[in-house]
Amino acid sequence: MKFIWETALSAIGRQVTSDSFERFFGRLVFDTYDGDVCRLTVDDQFLRDWIDDNYRGLLEAELEKAVGRPCKVALRVALPAVVAPVVVPAAVPPAVASLHANTASVPGASGIYLPAVQVDAEDPDFPEFPLNPHYTFDSFVVGPSNQFVFAACESVAKKPARAYNPLFIYGGTGLGKTHLLFAIANTLKAQNPSIRINYLSAEEFTNQLIKGISGRGMDAFRERYRSRCDVLLMDDVHNLAGKERTQEEFFHTFNALHQSNKQIILTSDKFPQDIPKLEERLRSRFTWGLIADIMPPELETRVAIVERKALRDGVNLAPDVSFLLASRIRSNVRELEGALTRVVAFCSLSGRPLTRELAAEALKHVIAEGDKGPNIETILRIVAEHFDVKIADIRGPRRHRAIAHPRSVAMYLCRKHSQASFPQIGESFGGKDHTTVIHACKKIECAVATDGAVRALIQSIERKLPA
Ligand code: ADP
Ligand code: MG
Repeated sequence: MKFIWETALSAIGRQVTSDSFERFFGRLVFDTYDGDVCRLTVDDQFLRDWIDDNYRGLLEAELEKAVGRPCKVALRVALPAVVAPVVVPAAVPPAVASLHANTASVPGASGIYLPAVQVDAEDPDFPEFPLNPHYTFDSFVVGPSNQFVFAACESVAKKPARAYNPLFIYGGTGLGKTHLLFAIANTLKAQNPSIRINYLSAEEFTNQLIKGISGRGMDAFRERYRSRCDVLLMDDVHNLAGKERTQEEFFHTFNALHQSNKQIILTSDKFPQDIPKLEERLRSRFTWGLIADIMPPELETRVAIVERKALRDGVNLAPDVSFLLASRIRSNVRELEGALTRVVAFCSLSGRPLTRELAAEALKHVIAEGDKGPNIETILRIVAEHFDVKIADIRGPRRHRAIAHPRSVAMYLCRKHSQASFPQIGESFGGKDHTTVIHACKKIECAVATDGAVRALIQSIERKLPA
């Protein structure tokens, strides 16, 4: 029955920011569902009240969708765990399973407390973020789309502050950026339990800065992020856009850490040059080390990801089922996982065997991108062949005309022939901003109208596109 919960949870994941999702929903544990009420456990009173006040409606609505009937939510606070004298401060929450809560562990049972985050003294103003122990290098499926970034992360985990500093990972949502950050953190922690790792999102950095300014003072904040920090993992730095005070503080944090040879790892859904309203001095620092992009996985990698996840959940998937899932969902691994959860829930609720037909029925609302005219990947491949450039270069950041022109042409053709929106195209082109796409499309449109050579070029590529 926990599949009901997983289905609801993945739907919620698409509606709240990843930060809120991880902070609030990642700490809920499914207990039981009896046909009317879904019982959940959370590890602290504050969090329970907060979820009750802010998210009860969303929780009940998504559970209702998952089970197909009204569902109430009962939230309970876990009793303080009776654990062996483990050196874990009381305020560190239990490792409430993965962020997808796919283990219905009994809260408080020994063995589920995370040894991962070790703190000198827990500071209530600047709480530690629990590391998800499931996000490891081993559980990450490597394919051509992510092998470069994977190798970069592994070498940083092997030689922090010596390989690349900072390491800047960029790519679209749901492609494994946070997974890789945690994999680095988990590896470093396993090698050296006393290493001080700070993981937080740019959003959370802003929140803590505000607390620092208004509450306990900036000294505690700075000590935490500048002096008492060996590795800083900052997720989603594109959210620094437009936040001047945060950028200023982060600039000094970055310098302090970099100068004292501490490793910094950043993730973003945009290339540094494409993050709007970002101070130049930060932009340039982001490019000091290594920039590695992570692209949507190819079909084979997607099949492997589905199979790996099914195996972990103890689900037996026939090859045609995993193939169906992987061919339907192409550009976001989180959605791919959500689709698997949905299919498995559908199967367990209907009591029917998990066949390809049943999976197709469960996913009937998910129409494959390819069913709607040529998809982005096809257009990219044809344009790359036409100009004799690499697809990776078209998706990458290089601005040289030999690359930039094919890129603009590909964007224009995607807009004209696929159903994708400007932001979707931007995302598939290595996480570029939608304004970049709009600009490119306008440029080519204008050239087609005024320049016969460009018009002929576009027509000759269009002849190669599938109907
Ligand atoms: P991002 O931070 O880029 O938005 P996440 O790291 O949160 O994405 O990944 C979304 C989900 O997809 C996570 O559950 C993650 O474990 C999974 N995932 C992404 N890429 C892979 C991969 N290559 N192998 C296994 N799981 C993956
Ligand atoms: Mg993320």
